[in-house]
Amino acid sequence: MSLPLTLLIDPVSVDSDRTDFSDTFHETDSAAPALRVGELSAQRGDGVFETLSVVNGHPQAVEPHIARLCNSAEICELPVPNADQWRAAIAYAVARLPHEGEVALKFVLSRGVESGPAPTAWLHATRATDFRAVRENGVRVVTLDRGYARGVAERAPWLLMGAKTLSYATNMAALREAKRRGADDTIFLTTDGYVMEGPTSSVVLRIGGSYVTPAPSGAILHGTTQQSIFEYLRDRGEQVEYRDVTVDELRRADAAWLGSSVRLAVAITAIDGEPMRTDRPLTDDLNAYLLGRTA
Ligand code: PLP
Repeated sequence: MSLPLTLLIDPVSVDSDRTDFSDTFHETDSAAPALRVGELSAQRGDGVFETLSVVNGHPQAVEPHIARLCNSAEICELPVPNADQWRAAIAYAVARLPHEGEVALKFVLSRGVESGPAPTAWLHATRATDFRAVRENGVRVVTLDRGYARGVAERAPWLLMGAKTLSYATNMAALREAKRRGADDTIFLTTDGYVMEGPTSSVVLRIGGSYVTPAPSGAILHGTTQQSIFEYLRDRGEQVEYRDVTVDELRRADAAWLGSSVRLAVAITAIDGEPMRTDRPLTDDLNAYLLGRTA
């Protein structure tokens, strides 16, 4: 029941016939050295990861996160993750986490050390940042050019767009640029003016009574939070759509949110300095729903 909690994991092949994985991971002191200096995750950001939220002891959207880890690994040509092993490691960790409050549980699959062992994997759970105020007050956003035109993932698959790789240096640089411009967060645009995603979030807009998110074409991640938001809206009889969204549509949207696993749904209150309409009751409902998920 203590935090942080760290597990070192020996990745098991996808075609293993094991059913018990308990001897394939072990707890380690979170403050102790655990990785070798030759680790390609540290040297080159060469690995993939997921972060899911554990709320009051319930891990959220485990299956969509594991599915996305597998998809990211495939894009990066990493060994195929054994989903049952990840389920077992997550369950082991969750059983040892506090049953109250919000925890961020990050799990990583790295290409490993050049001369072996490879691949390497670990899981690290920490107390989540307190996002209650930002869920209530929203974020000011600037749009930033991602530097690629629409269709880049298909033209240049080696850019690994659509994989959640450990290489988040550009994403963090974009957040610093947003701060320099007096905002809290950013939305990436293609060079030809289409909405992509935030550096750590998906974009959901309400346009003319329909809820819209940019299609996860391969250039952006398919957000697990966005998928939960769409499930909630669909259940309420609302219309939801995956499609291309232009920056002009973003600016004229009736309301817009950024969605991500730990911060959850936050309203966009301004875009490039222009105030944006918000829907506080719906934002509250979305976050109550997201926090209440038990799977
Ligand atoms: N897009 C990017 C680039 C992200 O890093 C994230 C989350 O970290 C998301 C979208 C949202 O994904 P999720 O809702 O699964 O956290």
